[in-house]
Amino acid sequence: MYEFKDEGALVVFSGGQDSTTCLFWALETFKTVEVVTFDYNQRHKAEIACAKKIASDLQVPHAILDMSLLGQLAPNALTRSDIEVKAGEDGALPSTFVDGRNLLFLSFAAVLAKQKGLRHIVTGVCETDFSGYPDCRDVFIKSLNVTLNLAMDYQFVLHTPLMWINKAETWGLADRLGKLEYVRQNTLTCYNGLIGDGCGTCPACLLRKRGLEQYLAGKGIAI
Ligand code: ZN
Repeated sequence: MYEFKDEGALVVFSGGQDSTTCLFWALETFKTVEVVTFDYNQRHKAEIACAKKIASDLQVPHAILDMSLLGQLAPNALTRSDIEVKAGEDGALPSTFVDGRNLLFLSFAAVLAKQKGLRHIVTGVCETDFSGYPDCRDVFIKSLNVTLNLAMDYQFVLHTPLMWINKAETWGLADRLGKLEYVRQNTLTCYNGLIGDGCGTCPACLLRKRGLEQYLAGKGIAI
């Protein structure tokens, strides 16, 4: 694992399994770590509360930016309770997709990071459990990294520790960092707003549970 022990990083942080694992990874990798959460009228305000609690537990500075404009621009299943969460059919994107979300979030994160003198930005995007979100792809992240550097004349480095690993391996990373139980009990992934193992039936819970079962089965543990 490479380290930047004399530099600081900003982690894009939602309070979910992926970004919390990234936060623990960042705490091992960088000298100082701060987090930023975007409030875009998520269905569940519980997500913001959950992110606040974790940032407070880990004593990392936490900025919350109002991105409610995103919900107005692009109504979707994450911001509107009258839109059902469902998988995309026939190659269509799932109803949870928000056009431009990562583009906007990472651009705002970069503005904030530069103000704080932090050139490293960490995001939990991942191509492996690919739902078809175009702005979670590695090629997009690399392209944006170049664009941000040119736009702000700054040497940002975007880090994506989860890019090529699946959900089981993400649990493995949390375990290697000694934080599997913390991540399991304190993060919010569930589309129904339930912390920890969640409702157990929504697409996010199923993906999370399948990954955990697969990881623990590899260690000979059944849940
Ligand atoms: Zn759920």
